Amino acid sequence: MKNWAGNLEFHPKSILTPTSTESAQALVKAHLSANKNIRMRGSAHSWTGLIATKESFLHLDEMQGLMEVDASTQLIKAKAGTKLSLFGEEAFKHNLALPNQGDINHQSLAGAMSTGTHGTGVTLQSMSNQIKNLTLIAGTGEILNIDGNKNPELLNAVGVSFGSVGLMTEATLKMIPAYKLKVETFAEDMKTSLEKFKSRLKDNRHLEMFYFPVGDWSIVKMMNVTEEKESPQSKFQKVSELVLENWLYEGLNILAHKTNSYRGPDKFMRKFVDHKVFVNWSHRAFPSARTVRFMEMEFNLPIEKFEEVFEELKASIKKNNFQTLFPIEIRFVKGDELWLSPAYKRDSVYFAIHTYIQQDFRPYFEEMQNIFKRHGGRPHWGKWHSLKHDDLAAVYPKWQEFKQVRSELDPKGLWLNEHLRSLFDKPEA
Ligand SMILES: Cc1cc2nc3c(=O)[nH]c(=O)nc-3n(C[C@H](O)[C@H](O)[C@H](O)COP(=O)(O)OP(=O)(O)OC[C@H]3O[C@@H](n4cnc5c(N)ncnc54)[C@H](O)[C@@H]3O)c2cc1C
Repeated sequence: MKNWAGNLEFHPKSILTPTSTESAQALVKAHLSANKNIRMRGSAHSWTGLIATKESFLHLDEMQGLMEVDASTQLIKAKAGTKLSLFGEEAFKHNLALPNQGDINHQSLAGAMSTGTHGTGVTLQSMSNQIKNLTLIAGTGEILNIDGNKNPELLNAVGVSFGSVGLMTEATLKMIPAYKLKVETFAEDMKTSLEKFKSRLKDNRHLEMFYFPVGDWSIVKMMNVTEEKESPQSKFQKVSELVLENWLYEGLNILAHKTNSYRGPDKFMRKFVDHKVFVNWSHRAFPSARTVRFMEMEFNLPIEKFEEVFEELKASIKKNNFQTLFPIEIRFVKGDELWLSPAYKRDSVYFAIHTYIQQDFRPYFEEMQNIFKRHGGRPHWGKWHSLKHDDLAAVYPKWQEFKQVRSELDPKGLWLNEHLRSLFDKPEA
């Protein structure tokens, strides 16, 4: 069994594929009686060891689709295994959409929500904040219906909990009326991006910057709601996007990696970035094709720290001569109340560090991680990091309270694996 990037490989004893909340509960109860553990996956798009297990491995691929749609409240109840791609298209049939999304849509609802998956937009929260109600099979075997109106504290506690308290089987999400986005991307020197970022942040619903450290340039992406007509999406355009943005990119990465020469390919790459504008419905505009495999680490910091931290990252990359054709992705997200959300109680900037999958990512990631740690950074739960219990307790104000809730809902540690224990178990002195 491998995750999307292939950096994680493990061999579960058995695969569980429940088709309903009740059948999942029966499996949970059987495991509790036999003192056995379960880990669950969504679409295995995380880099960390969250889903790894040698014991039972569960997924909800057989539990997909919408269950109820209430047009008046704009609430959709869906099975938690529903892939975001399917969810987006099905919601669109009811003229509804998520207010924000990340840059792919292959994840499952439960998997994306459980790690605080986010897009970009300083007025918009992570996707986990759309959950208003969820059905969870706790580690006690009990089916819990957690209603955000009746028990907001519990929903805040478990809203981002990466499958450490229970199996999410159904979720009710707050939607908004379907909308189109005008997406604009172009390349420029990073100096210009930095000069303009404050005004762009104010003027655009979504702002994202991809910083390419080798040549000190960036791709800027801005998205705004529009009433304009959808752009024609010919098959040829889609194929050329795949070839240019993925296959050519992969070729350049292989070349740079093999020859250990990054300047030429980086310059070549910049030349290929057109000024592109297109319009599409939001659920089709957010995701991009990502066929080139890479490693990723992403940290959340208070938004006020953006420039200071960016300058430190840049200086460290230069000093250590870290080379990669992959960008540092910079996104902005509104703060929230979910206890383990990286954006807990702070408007945030996210820095995502990437390398091509064949590169040795560790020296680069570890150095960047040290900088993030010094500034109170919180890691994306699904992306590589090496923070452990004490590091996390220092940056999550509700860490101890969460642990208390976790042990009440999963007293036998049914849902724990090695990775989760390294997060939740305080090392002995
Ligand atoms: C190419 C690529 C692009 C990405 N882009 C973004 C992005 O733009 N923004 C962003 O924030 N992240 C992004 N990610 C990260 C990704 O969104 C998260 O890692 C997400 O958690 C993966 O969802 P998944 O369905 O694959 O879940 P998995 O990776 O399979 O699982 C994630 C966590 O959810 C838990 N889980 C899964 N199902 C359930 C369930 N039913 N009940 C309880 N817990 C469950 C798992 O046990 C695990 O702890 C990207 C990842 C990739 C590979």
